[in-house]
Amino acid sequence: MTRLLIIGPPGSGKGTQAHRLSEQLGIPGISTGDMFRTHLAGQTPLGIEAEEYLDSGNLVPSHITTAMVQERLRQQDTKNGFLLDGYPRTLSQLEDLDHILKSIGHTLDAVLEITVDEDEIVRRLLLRSRIEGRSDDTEAVIRHRMQLYREETGPVVAQYAQRGLLFSVDGTAEVDQVTAGALKGIETVRTRRTAL
Ligand code: AMP
Repeated sequence: MTRLLIIGPPGSGKGTQAHRLSEQLGIPGISTGDMFRTHLAGQTPLGIEAEEYLDSGNLVPSHITTAMVQERLRQQDTKNGFLLDGYPRTLSQLEDLDHILKSIGHTLDAVLEITVDEDEIVRRLLLRSRIEGRSDDTEAVIRHRMQLYREETGPVVAQYAQRGLLFSVDGTAEVDQVTAGALKGIETVRTRRTAL
């Protein structure tokens, strides 16, 4: 049973690692960013509501995001674990997640943080914007998203560190190396916690 979070700034390779880890661990990956983009592409009411936030790099209001996550975590395929990617991004979402997990009788096993410095992030995201054409990959929006990450998600990372759940992996290493480091980190945190 593996219940994991992956946290990292935009452009840290978090999405790539989330896909690889969920595949290797045999658990569903749940990316709030992907869920919003799918809604947006399908022009669902939720997608239309989220559009302005996604385009400006702002956070979609928590009541919308949390309701979406809650509904997803109640689905059967998450019974044996999941890898949540991109949520929680604020302390208030962290509390919401605590409540959701409590209501379904689960706790987290580990939280993986991917670290990459800001200049490298801007370089990577500008490159990605040319390849993928994502509307939130302009330099001004990138810098805004990074600022939000520092200010809003920084305290989330600190809180999980305090709970003894956090391990960090250098996201500038080769993709395979980051995955290997992440798998090792997950095991280390799990072993440490079962030994408690
Ligand atoms: P991501 O792909 O994780 O970088 O997310 C892309 C965009 O989706 C973000 O810039 C936000 O607009 C929105 N989003 C994703 N996750 C969340 C969340 N936990 N809370 C609020 N907005 C989110």
